Amino acid sequence: MKIICVGRNYARHAAEMNSAVPTEPVLFMKPSTALVINNKDFWHPDYSSNVHHEVELVLRVSAHGRSIAEKFAWKYYDAITVGLDLTARDIQKKCKEKGLPWEKAKAFDNSAPIGKWISKEEIKDMNDIGFYLKKDGLVVQEGNTKDLIFNFDFLISYISKFFTLTKGDLIFTGTPEGWKNPESENPLMGKLL
Ligand code: MG
Repeated sequence: MKIICVGRNYARHAAEMNSAVPTEPVLFMKPSTALVINNKDFWHPDYSSNVHHEVELVLRVSAHGRSIAEKFAWKYYDAITVGLDLTARDIQKKCKEKGLPWEKAKAFDNSAPIGKWISKEEIKDMNDIGFYLKKDGLVVQEGNTKDLIFNFDFLISYISKFFTLTKGDLIFTGTPEGWKNPESENPLMGKLL
C-alpha cells in the first residue's frame, strides 16, 4: 500500500505558500507507517517545532491500474474521507532552500491521519464537496472541490502514468488555503461551529 499526495492543488494555497500555480500536479509519497486510523493518538516529530495541518480529501483506490484514461478514472476509487497531510514546515523550508527531497518534512511516522470512509455512491457531485477542519472548535481551514486545480479524475489518470495504482492505495488530493492565516477572507474561517 502506498500513499500518494498532491501538492498545491488549490490556487489560494499556492499563493499563501508563495508558490506558483502548477501547470501539472506536484506529487510526493508517504509510507504506510505514516497512516493513522481509528482515531488513534499520534505524536508530533520531536525534530520539528512547526508542524502544520493540511486538511485534504482522500481517495481510496479500489482497482489495479496504470495509464488510466481520465474518462475511466471514476472506476478506480470507491470511497472518500478527510485526512491530514501533516507537514513539518520548518524542515520543509530547509529542504526547499537546499533543493533536497521533502520526506523528512512530509513522510514521518503518523503524518497521515485519516477519517472514516464514505462510499463514493453517497456523494452527489465529486466536483462540489465542501469540507473544513476545526481546531479547538474554530474553523481553521475550509475548502470545496470546485476550487481544485486538478480534479479527482485528472489526478488518477495523471498519477497512474508514473505509478501503478493498486487496491488500497490512498490519494491525498491537496489542501485548501488557511493553514497559515486563520483570519482569511473566507467567511467560515475563524467561526465557532
Ligand atoms: Mg498537502
